Amino acid sequence: MEKRQLTCIGCPMGCQVSVTLEQGEVTEVTGNTCKRGEIYARKEVTNPTRIVTSTVRVNGGIEPVVSCKTAQDIPKGKIFDCCKALGELEVSAPVAMGDVLLRDVCGTGVDIIATKDLPVA
Ligand code: SF4
Repeated sequence: MEKRQLTCIGCPMGCQVSVTLEQGEVTEVTGNTCKRGEIYARKEVTNPTRIVTSTVRVNGGIEPVVSCKTAQDIPKGKIFDCCKALGELEVSAPVAMGDVLLRDVCGTGVDIIATKDLPVA
């Protein structure tokens, strides 16, 4: 039997959640105040994922960078590679909110999208 202690990131309450696993299977979740905490905890111990938010350099825009994020969660283990790929990326203005800046980041099947408009300078 294995016990994991987590802080739920579902809301600012930050409940301390305890997960019991037996042979890799979740058998009990306690400490969560709502169902969202249980869902988070089960996923976190079996397949942890995150939305990544960052910025990307822009050529010819009114600002040098544009904010962006992954369109969906990516595996937690791919976050470092994703940030590295974004650090090496440069796009050209204009950029519109929702534009795909990079497809299939690091083979995750998830695109990087712009989260604001950035007109030409
Ligand atoms: S368990 Fe529910 S109430 Fe507690 S931090 Fe998570 S989302 Fe918020």
